[in-house]
Order: sequence, then structure tokens, then C-alpha cells
Amino acid sequence: MFLHIPYQAVGNWLSPAGERARLSILIFHRVLPETDPLFPNEATAASFDARMARLKRVFNVLPLPEAVARLKAGTLPARAACVTFDDGYADNLTVALPILRRHGLHATFFIATGYLNGGRMFNDTVIEAIRRTRADRIDLSDLGLGHHELAGIEARRRAIDAILPKVKYLPLDQRDRVVAELAGRLTDQALPDDLMMTTDQLKALHAAGMEIGGHTARHPILAGLDADAARTEIAAGKAWLEQTLGSRVRVFAYPNGKPGADYLPAQAAIPRELGLEAAVSTQWGAATGADDVFQLPRFTPWSPSPARFIPQLLGNLRRAAARTGYPKPKN
Ligand SMILES: [Zn+2]
Repeated sequence: MFLHIPYQAVGNWLSPAGERARLSILIFHRVLPETDPLFPNEATAASFDARMARLKRVFNVLPLPEAVARLKAGTLPARAACVTFDDGYADNLTVALPILRRHGLHATFFIATGYLNGGRMFNDTVIEAIRRTRADRIDLSDLGLGHHELAGIEARRRAIDAILPKVKYLPLDQRDRVVAELAGRLTDQALPDDLMMTTDQLKALHAAGMEIGGHTARHPILAGLDADAARTEIAAGKAWLEQTLGSRVRVFAYPNGKPGADYLPAQAAIPRELGLEAAVSTQWGAATGADDVFQLPRFTPWSPSPARFIPQLLGNLRRAAARTGYPKPKN
């Protein structure tokens, strides 16, 4: 039996209503139909369903723009939370949306527009090439990516974990060249071209009442771009979404999202100047009314066990409180 009443009591203490509210913003990327042996901890339909069932029993889930407006106004309910997805994977529509609807939950989807309609994110090129290769090892040292054992699923997972952080921080053009070269060396099989949404799928997600937010066009590390290039990437993604959906884009997520490493604090002015209402990072935490609404922290419960989902969300709130002060009890 799931004991949600004590969790609500802890939540009321750590995440009270009104001026002292703390907003929990959850991050997801993919929701797979079935477990992927290469990524056994990635959310699946079954685990996402179990998590959303628990979330709505303990937290009050709001659309992100409404939650941000109420955070600023001091009118959030206790235990306020938002659900967000980054990147624009097709499974967000085909797997996650039916589950969200069944639970009556709202979510915000941050879309990297440059990969829709048959594109593939650089990380997926690496993952899918390593998944398909017949090689037992590969030397990528001339690409600056080291030498990797590939015999067995554990070795492949380790290779992916070692390669992705290096590829991620390459300049955009070099990043795309290097992953194409890596894929060509590993396999001659075609890699999937249906991982990301099509325009029609994106429109269906929007028509279902979900919030669509910006996530740039090509998912660059903004910190490596000059001010003009960073603005162009953010503005291009936003403009494409607005033209395609015929409605205003209100929220933005920084690619990769770590303040300082992935975007510069000064770049947080760009979404505001472009007329957005809020932006989220991947800094772990829970937002308070004192936070910059263009750098709101988020949190991902990392345990694959749905039973750990609420305890980890409450743990995040407790750590946030330890940093910025526990809410004072009301008189
Ligand atoms: Zn992303």
C-alpha cells in the first residue's frame, strides 16, 4: 500500500502554499514503450505511469507558465510541481501523452526544432551506432574520443558514457562531423530516423493542450557561442515553433542546462529579451519566489524504482530548504 498521507504532510512542510512556496519542476527526456537493455534505468511506459500516479497523489501538478506566474505572485498551492520533457522525442507523443491524459496531468515539452522530421540528435547517433556495431572494440583516438571495448552490453554502456560528454562540448559543426565519422566506422546499418517528432506529431501534442517550449534549433552548448550566435539559435527555434503552431512560445529550456558550463549567466537575458516568460536550467533544486524566473532549477529523481520517486522529490525539496532556509511555520 502506498502511504501518500505522510508524504503530503512532509510536502506541506517543505513546499507550503503562498509566499513561502517551493516549486518542483521535473525533467524527462524519453519514455520508452519497453525497457531498453542498453539503458535499463530510462523511463518506460510502465514506470512513467507508476510515477505519474504517485505524483498526482502527493503533488499539485500545474502547467509551467501558470506555476511561474503564481510563484511570482505568491499564490502557488502547497506541493506544487510541473512536468517537463526536453528535446522532442516522438515517444513523448506516442507513449507519454496517453499516460499523462489518463492521469489528467499537464506537461511542457521543450523542442530542439532542428531534429524534427527525420533528424537525429548527436547523442542518439552515438548510441544507435554503438548498439548496432559488430565490432568488439574501436579506436577513436584520432577523433579525440579514446579507445573503447564494445564486447557486451556493459562495455557498450561504458563506451557511450565515456564518449557522449566529449562529443557534447565540441563546436556544432565539428560535433556533427565527428558523430557521423564515428557512426560510419562502427556500422553500415541505417540508423533510426524516427526518434524525434514530426511536425504533425508536434501539432497533435499541442492540440492535446500541452505547452510547447523552446530548446533552440540545433541544441548547441550556448556557453560556447558568442552573444549573436546564442541569440540566433534561441530565436530560430522559437520562431519556427510559433509559425508552425500558430501560437506564442512562452517558456524555454537551456540545452544541457548547467549554469556556467552549458549557458552563461549573462545569456539568461536572451530569453527575456525575446519575449519569453520563463526559462529552466538543469541545476538541481526547487524554485522559490526569490529565484530568477529565467534560470529556474529542475530535478530528476534518478532511481529506476517508482517507489523511490516521491521520497527523492521530497529529498530534493529538503536539500533546497537546507540551502535557502526551511519555511518558517505559520503563526
Ligand atoms: Zn536537451
